[in-house]
This record gives sequence, C-alpha cells and structure tokens, in this order.
Amino acid sequence: MRPVAKKIKFLSTYIMSKHIFVTGGVTSSLGKGIIAASLAKLLQARGLSVTIQKLDPYINVDPGTLNPYEHGECYVTEDGAETDLDLGHYERFLNIPTSQANNVTTGRIYQTVIEKERAGAFLGKTVQVIPHITDEIKNRIRLQETLGTYDIIITEIGGTVGDIESLPYLEALRQLRREIGKENCVVVHLTLIPYLSAAKELKTKPTQHSVKELLQAGIQPDILVCRTEYALPKELRDKLALFCNVDEKSVIEAIDAETIYDVPLLMLKEKLDKIVLKKLGIKNHNEPDLTQWKDFLGRLKNPTREVKIGLVGKYNELQDAYKSIYEAFIHAGSVNECKVRVIPIHSETLENGDIANKLKGFDGILVAPGFGERGIAGKLEAIRFVRENNIPFFGICLGMQCAVVEFCKNVLGIKQADSTEVNPNTTEPVIDLMADQKEITAKGGTMRLGAYDCKLQKNSISYKAYGKVDISERHRHRYEFNNAYLERMEAAGLMATGKNPASGLVEVVELKDHPYFIGVQYHPELKSTVENPHPLFVSFIKAALQHKA
Ligand code: GLN
Repeated sequence: MRPVAKKIKFLSTYIMSKHIFVTGGVTSSLGKGIIAASLAKLLQARGLSVTIQKLDPYINVDPGTLNPYEHGECYVTEDGAETDLDLGHYERFLNIPTSQANNVTTGRIYQTVIEKERAGAFLGKTVQVIPHITDEIKNRIRLQETLGTYDIIITEIGGTVGDIESLPYLEALRQLRREIGKENCVVVHLTLIPYLSAAKELKTKPTQHSVKELLQAGIQPDILVCRTEYALPKELRDKLALFCNVDEKSVIEAIDAETIYDVPLLMLKEKLDKIVLKKLGIKNHNEPDLTQWKDFLGRLKNPTREVKIGLVGKYNELQDAYKSIYEAFIHAGSVNECKVRVIPIHSETLENGDIANKLKGFDGILVAPGFGERGIAGKLEAIRFVRENNIPFFGICLGMQCAVVEFCKNVLGIKQADSTEVNPNTTEPVIDLMADQKEITAKGGTMRLGAYDCKLQKNSISYKAYGKVDISERHRHRYEFNNAYLERMEAAGLMATGKNPASGLVEVVELKDHPYFIGVQYHPELKSTVENPHPLFVSFIKAALQHKA
C-alpha cells in the first residue's frame, strides 16, 4: 500500500512529500546518521518511498577539501559530489544512490545566495540571514520534493542544537514547519542520557537543556530518541516526557548496539516508525519486510570462520577515515559467513624493515586510498611482501597506484619509477597527473569524480567477481597509470584487466600467477550495501579464506 506522495495543499504552498527532521542535542557523535538511516529503512520496508539528506553547518562548500582526521571519509556519489560520510550510511541501509542534492553545507547555501545577489536577484534589498539564507535552506530542503516522488523526506541537521552555526537551520525548520503544517512535519530529537556511575543513575538534565535550546528556536520536538548505555526505565521515560513536553510513547530508547546494523531492529522494537507514521497521519498497515536484513544480520552474527585482514593506510587513528572500507568488509564477511577482523596497520610503521614479522598471520592485505607522499614507502614494502609471498592483495586508488610503482621498481627494475604525486621530478613517471588535470590549480571539486564506465577483460579476477564485462564505479583521483609503460608492465605479468572504454585509462591491474592480486583505480567500497555487498570485497574475502586454508 503506497498511501501518500500526492500533492497536499497547505496555506499557499503545495507539498509533495511529508518531512521528518532529525536534530541532535547534548553532544556530537550520537549517531544521527544511523538513526535517520534506520528510520528510513523501516519506512522503506513498509513499502514507502523515502530519501534522506544531510545539512552540514560548516562553511566549506563541501567536505572534499577536509582532512580525513577532521571529518572522516569523504563519500563520493554517482554524480561526483564529495559529501559527508553519513550519505554512505544512507546508501548502505537503503540500497538506493544519493546525489549532490542529498548534502548541503552552509558554504554552499551562502555561495548560492551570494551568486544570486551578484546577479541582481535581490536588487534594492539588504541581504540577510533571515529571510535570504533561511529561504535558501528551505529551498534546498524542499528540492527533494521535485527530484522524486517520495512519500517521506528525512533531513538530518548536522551539528548540535545550541551551536551558533546551527541557528539558521533551526530557524528555517521552524518556518518550514509553520508553512507546511505540523501534520506534514515531524521533528525527532536525538539526545544523550548519560549514566553517572558514582550515583548509579541515568541523568535527564542534559536532555531537558537541549530541548530548551530547541524551544528557544521555536521548535517543540515531537519525538525524543535517547542514546543510552542502559535500558530506560518507565519512570525516566515519564519524566522526560513531562519535562520535555512530548507524549510518553514518543520517548524512544536507543541503547548501545553491537553493530549499527542492529539499530533498525531496535527502533522497530521501540515502534519509532509507527509513532512517526501516526504523527504524519500516514495510514500504513504493512508490517515492515525485513527478511533480507535479518538474513544478513543472522549470517553476520553467526560466522563459521574467520580471516584477518591488514588495512594499510595512514589515517588509521580514525576509523571513520576508512568508513566505507570497514563497512564493505562487514557486508562481504556476512555473505561468506566469515568474521572479518580488520587490523589497521600504519604504513609508516612498515618503513624500517622486519616486514615479514609485521605482516605475519594476515590472510590478506588491503592498501588504502590516500593523498600525498607520507607513508608511501611503507605501502610499497607491504605490496612487495604480499606479491612475493602469494598473500591476497587488494589495492584501492592510491593502493593500486602503489602496486604499479612497486612492480615497476622491483620487477621491471625501473629504479626511478614513481608517481609524480610523490616525486614530481621523477624521470620515470609510471603514475602521472591526468592530462585534463594539468591546467587545474583550484582544489575544490576538481578531481576526476563520480561514476565512470570500465570494461573488464574476460579471464580476469575482476571479471570472475563481477560476472560481467561492463561495470561502472565511482572515482576520486587526479593521477592515473601512464600508458607509456603498459607494454613493459604487461609483458612482465601485471595486466591491465579493466580500462575506461572512452579514454583507455587503466582502471584495474591484476598480477598473473598470483592467487589474488588486484588493484583498482576506483573506489568499490562506496557501492557496497547490505543488500548488494561489493563483488570485489566478496571475492577478496574468499581468497583470504583460501589462503588461510
Ligand atoms: N592521490 C591519488 C590521486 O589523486 C589517489 C587518490 C585516492 O586514493 N583517492 O590520484
């Protein structure tokens, strides 16, 4: 039953979809993205069509120029937008692609308004936060209504209520709610109920304060989702309901979960989806069909075997820097009924010898994407070791480029072989800046970004994994394999098994006579979802299992 997605007239505006907003209180990192994605999953499983978007209050136009230490992974969409990593969760949970339209920052909002001002759109007027910035925020929120026939649009507001940066977003939300009517708009406030071990008590005061902040902005939340380490007793729920002015049923417990993939089921148990639908006046009597999701969880939690994978990178202090890779391993592990233990290895620690000892006991090594010269030597050491010792290898983007450099140096004997990203003056640029990048000096949004086609060679590891010749994968890079070295490289056994059909750009390299050695210029991790685990991750885990056996 698909009940809504029809035009609803309210005041002077038509709305095509109902809206859910997710705000955050007390602290950051409570997992708004996971709660939003879980709620979306439940609604989708009931047969409703849902999309999620994220509003980020920082001034960068997009997170593409942010260091992974600052902001975690930069997630790239099909259309080449560099976005917040929460969009990765949306795609992994919902199994539908997002786009540039699903992520907006304050920087982009201001950029648009300033461009309009320069074009004369506000002639005669003083341009101000209210109404000009808030109008633009509302436009962006409602843009989704025109992009698809969504029953429900979920908007996650980044940051924490009380931040100066969040104020225009809350004001825009207050206005929008007034314009489209409360029955078309639900506000879910995610908050923290800390446990004081000395007092052995869960505390509600921080939540009361954060709701007060919201009220000051003119927003009464409809539902409180409470992050907690311990179950919320009834008295506490009642107290929160009373002080925060919501009904008792709308105080939802979000207890710490073993895996983020448990959260949709925990929210189902707490009836978050039902409460939301009731508040939005959507009659939906379908029970959510979560069969596939539960199958996935069943296999994830009951592995029959285990492999140990080394993730060689340089941003290892922060797991979020490789978020999609970790998640892709979880998906691929579940398919193989295999627990994948991913051990981060800082590439710089591999630089001073004793590599055999450092990589002992690994069933596979993945060399991660990255930028700049720091840590490259360690990556080359790791690749040489796994190449010579028949250990499964998977190189992604920079990892693939390092595999080429290592092969050219140590097998072809081209001692000066390098990437010009690492050594701009090398006489043997086996990895070089792409021709169309040479004139570019600006850094934001200027890489080769988004989905490009690739043609695979039959009889390759990749073809076997994908089961087809024509694939499309997402990219984020400036450098590429230098085709001047192709003949020599292939003659020695490193084969270019995947190429972009239009430009001839090498997308995949594979080593002959090795059980599993593959490097890809693209980012397969970005397309792995619960329902569609990525074939290369699945085949890499299979190879690791074989290696272990
Ligand atoms: N730094 C490399 C390039 O720009 C690889 C990028 C990446 O790993 N995402 O080509």
